[in-house]
Amino acid sequence: MVQGIPRRLRRVKIDLHAHSAISDGTDSPAGLVAAAAAAGLDVVALTDHDTFDGLPEALAAAGAAGVRVLPGIELSAEAGGVSVHLLGYGCRADDSALLDELALIRRGRSGRIPAMLAALAALGMPLDAGLLARVSGNATSIGRPHLADALVAQGYVADRTEAFDKYLADDGPAFVPRYAAPLESAIGLIRAAGGVAVIAHPWGRVSRGVLPEHYLAELAGRGLDGIEVDHNDHDPATRDELRALAGRHGLLVTGSSDYHGLGKRDHGLGVNTTAPEALAEIDARIAARG
Ligand code: AMP
Ligand code: MN
Ligand code: MN
Ligand code: MN
Repeated sequence: MVQGIPRRLRRVKIDLHAHSAISDGTDSPAGLVAAAAAAGLDVVALTDHDTFDGLPEALAAAGAAGVRVLPGIELSAEAGGVSVHLLGYGCRADDSALLDELALIRRGRSGRIPAMLAALAALGMPLDAGLLARVSGNATSIGRPHLADALVAQGYVADRTEAFDKYLADDGPAFVPRYAAPLESAIGLIRAAGGVAVIAHPWGRVSRGVLPEHYLAELAGRGLDGIEVDHNDHDPATRDELRALAGRHGLLVTGSSDYHGLGKRDHGLGVNTTAPEALAEIDARIAARG
């Protein structure tokens, strides 16, 4: 129940994109599920970057919390050398081709860290490797947000946003690129693992230029299931455009918070949601592909 309204009398609340501290969120997987219950969500998808490692704990916590956890992932892909994030729902977590690709991406993630530490040191901000390990906790997918947290802990910047704005963004002085899966092959991997493929924040910060309508239409013909429309990185006009585009090309529409706990304070759980009809279609496709 939320605010005294019986569950059967209100619309089901669904958030299909959230991170735990196994990647760059700040809640443990079980903590994320508890936070979802506290936010009045009925369904939350755990979509850590490039790892399934948080799923067992989140799924184990779901029953007692009264929240359904949809297993997901946010895969690091690229189109034309530009970063594109691909959400996968309901993938078989033991699919060896997908697991091999995830391992390759995570190796790229950790492999770039020494070069980024060197760049930060050259900028006058040496960081202790032990400090980085401490702020990373038990994350198995390491990213720039962990470097940002180390910069904060060392007192060089006030928060993650300042760290990205000044140093870590794709055009920042401490940025070092890393391996990501070519987008069409990433869609193929998700589909071959029985999953549903949805492009995250397609017209957000970086990827709009490489995802024009004609290419999204082409991808719809090659196995892409949907696009994330309602996301904080899209303004209202962009959401309207993307919703119409999805309608023209038979793509599913999702909405979600992209919750990162304390890592992105304006991305609170449930700030954007997915329609129950869209989740029903995602469930039907997962069942059909299983
Ligand atoms: P990486 O995975 O190492 O490429 O880092 C990208 C991650 O950094 C994204 O998943 C976001 O969670 C986070 N991020 C990107 N830009 C910003 C920003 N301006 N402020 C805070 N976090 C950001
Ligand atoms: Mn992230
Ligand atoms: Mn993303
Ligand atoms: Mn995300």
